[in-house]
Order: sequence, then C-alpha cells, then structure tokens
Amino acid sequence: MQFYNTLTRSKETFEPLEKGHARLYTCGPTVYNFAHIGNFRAYVFEDLLRRTLRYAGLRVTQVMNLTDVDDKTIRGAITAGLPLKRYTHPFIEAFFSDLKVLNIESAEVYPAATDHIPEMIVLVQSLLDKGLAYRTDDGSVYFKVDAFPQYGRLAHLDRTSLRVGARVAQDEYEKESVGDFALWKGWDEKDGEVVWDAPWGRGRPGWHIECSAMSMKYLGASFDIHTGGIDNLFPHHENEIAQAEGATGETFVRYWLHCAHLRVNGEKMSKSLGNFFTLRDLIAQGWGGRWIRYVLISGHYRQPLNFTFDALEASRTALSRIDAFVDQLAETAGGCEPSADLPSWAAAGRDAFDAAVFDDLNLPEALAALFGIVRDGNAAVSAGTVTPAEAAAIAALLKQFDRVLGVLQFGRVCDEAVPAAIQQLADARSAARTQKHWAESDRLRDAIAAAGWEVRDSKDGQKLKKRQA
Ligand code: AMP
Ligand code: ZN
Repeated sequence: MQFYNTLTRSKETFEPLEKGHARLYTCGPTVYNFAHIGNFRAYVFEDLLRRTLRYAGLRVTQVMNLTDVDDKTIRGAITAGLPLKRYTHPFIEAFFSDLKVLNIESAEVYPAATDHIPEMIVLVQSLLDKGLAYRTDDGSVYFKVDAFPQYGRLAHLDRTSLRVGARVAQDEYEKESVGDFALWKGWDEKDGEVVWDAPWGRGRPGWHIECSAMSMKYLGASFDIHTGGIDNLFPHHENEIAQAEGATGETFVRYWLHCAHLRVNGEKMSKSLGNFFTLRDLIAQGWGGRWIRYVLISGHYRQPLNFTFDALEASRTALSRIDAFVDQLAETAGGCEPSADLPSWAAAGRDAFDAAVFDDLNLPEALAALFGIVRDGNAAVSAGTVTPAEAAAIAALLKQFDRVLGVLQFGRVCDEAVPAAIQQLADARSAARTQKHWAESDRLRDAIAAAGWEVRDSKDGQKLKKRQA
C-alpha cells in the first residue's frame, strides 16, 4: 500500500509503526458554523483512507478533533451573544449527523479542544522550558521559529525569508507572513468570557497547539498518519510539527496526506468567499447523501474537484446503474450460495480495484474497475453465462468493494443463509400452494415477511430473500 507523503513529495510504501495497527489524526471541524461540502471533501477523503487501511486488514485508531475554541468560534459566539459552549454545541451535533448522511465511519475519538486545555498548557510550558517559546507583555506565548532549524520542512519554506522576531497573532495567515506564532493568546476584551488560567497568565490556546496536544495525548508522541485539506499544510501542520517535535525531540508524524480543494467555478469552496453549499442545503434540495458522497469520492483526492449539479446528476445515474446490476445479480443468485471462484472477468476487476485503492487511493481507477465488472457482468448475465453461484460471488465481491466505497446498496441481494425457521415456513407454504390452499399460503407469506424475509414465486419454485432494511 502506497501513499503520497506531502513531507517527502513522493509516494511511499505505508508501514505502520506498530504492526497491524495504523494510528491516524485527521484535523476536524472548526465548529463555528455548519460544515460545507468542501469541508466534507476532506472528511470523505479521510474516511476513504480509514476504510482502505481497514480493507488492507489493519486496525485503525483515528482521532478527529473538534476545534471549539479559536479566533472564529470566539468571534461567532460574541456576535451571537452566547457563551462559547452554547454557541458551538449545535454545530457539533450537526456535524455528527452530517457524517451519518455521508456514511462516514466514526473515528475512535473526537476530542474537543476545550476539554484539553491542561494538556495544552503542559506542552506550552515545555516549549518555554526548552527555550523554544517566549512570553510577551500582553500575556501571550509565542513559538520562536528561528530556534527550531527544521521549521519549514513540510511547507518547503525558504528559511532565508523568515522574518526573525516578527510575530503573527492570528490563527490563520499566509506564507508571506511567516514568523513567530501564538501558542497562547493573553486575554483581551475581544475574548469575552473565554479564558483559562495558565502559569504565565490568563488567556486561551492558539489553534495549532490544540492539535499537537490532542494528537499526542491519544496517539503518542510519534504516530503514523496526519491529514487535512491542503490549506492545513501551512501554517497549521507546519506549526504542529514545530510544537510537537520541539517538545518531544521525536518524529511527530511519518506520513502527511493532504487533499486538494473542492472548487466552485475554479475557486476554493469556502465560507469567506460565500460560494459554498452546506450538506443541509443540498439535502433540502432533494439530493441524496449517497449521490453527494459519490461526487466526493469520484475524483482523486490530490486533484482539485469542481463541484457542479451536473456532477450530482451524473452520480445519481452512475449509482442507479450499479443498483440495477446488483438487482440483476440478486435475481440470478436466487439461492445465494456463492461459488468459490469468480468468473475471470470479475477476478480481473477485483485485482484492478485492489491495485487502484492501494495505490494512493486511486478512486477514479477503482471505480473504473467496478464499472468494468458492471459492463462485463450485464453482458454475461444477458448471455446467460453467469451461474446463480457466480452471481452470488460477484455480489459478495461488490460488498467487499463497498467496505472502501461506502455508497452501494445491497438490500435486495440475499447473501445470508436462510434460517431453518424461515425455511420451514417456506416449505409449509409450498405445500399449501400445491394443495391450492391460497389463504394459508398468504398467511405463511405474511409470517415470513414479519420475520424479515420475502418469498417470491418463480418457475423454479419459491425464492427467499432477506428484505431491504
Ligand atoms: P475548518 O473547519 O475550516 O478547520 O476546515 C476543516 C477541514 O476542511 C480542513 O481539513 C480543511 O483543510 C478542509 N477544507 C476546507 N475547505 C475545503 C475545500 N474547499 N475543499 C477541501 N477541503 C476543505
Ligand atoms: Zn488540526
């Protein structure tokens, strides 16, 4: 399995530090508003990564933070006239429900920044102790970039352009303004009631220290993968490395993965440009979550993806083609015992799918492999060359693919052995029908349905299928 590591700007074979276990930190939402689908491009990419690691047989520990205190959340709370927690709470709830709509698997831990202030204070203190940070008159603490020679390695900064001694107080800034950055911001009236005590004075954490402290708390001083959208690369991730490695002296993260932006008419989708759609906007317009997910997975994560309604429409068409094929398989599979071997064209499709996802999450190629199976499969079914057992095996293969994709629907494929009790009801029904006891036959059909199964009569006799949830 290979991933493109932003740190080395090259594809590298992935080897977790601990055998069989991948530890992953994914920068989470700043909960000052509803996440837009550009944000969800990042979370869906991280979900694909997580699912691919699991598909490869690894155990995954994923941590996704909730940034519930920073410049933006404080500004939002003050504008709304609400205490910070009351302001962020509904956006946190909305975020979790949006994850479900997009079928994003849950991370193992969702730490909120406001619950980890003591850990941040310890980290800032250790940077002060090591001479990598200094206090200022307003009670703030800044990281001294000049004292950390590796600063700029991730973002490929030209160190000769470092503005030694220059300071940036805000959480977000451009490369041109690189300078000492705030680890802790001394209280001022703009912070309202948002304040904590630290040994060097009252204030609140800078955004970057939050992720260093929370990632190391749950994943250790050194872990495998750290991700985010490409805009997180600088300054956020560069600063996270400086804080973590400055404090521990260990390699913080081994693989850095970043997704390119979701765009609208060639521009980054963002709150500040106002060119965004929240997931809620799209759902309210009648678009299904899985169509939106399909749009987001269909491009390669390192390529910018332009969001259009035509793309949503195309996703709907693509998914209904797969749905129709799955139905066709269900129809053909009938009794549902999968064959040991796949037809050769399906085995080739499986190999192509696996090679694609393990090659830096190449979803466009993986989906092409899936559509190759749909095309060849439809032709083979029409030609009558797919046996029921093979159809069941192909359905099982698509289910495996869906462990990565998370967009298919299998409600109508019977892939479970029929329980004995259901089989008994079906046998009784068959007997009733032979004796033309139609009322009894209907009663038994209802009993089977009540148990979650569907019985269909065909020229080869009854067929049982698990009913769609
Ligand atoms: P934020 O809530 O602003 O901290 O952003 C949350 C995540 O969304 C981060 O990983 C960002 O890099 C990512 N992100 C923001 N806008 C976009 C976009 N238009 N396309 C892809 N990812 C984005
Ligand atoms: Zn972060």
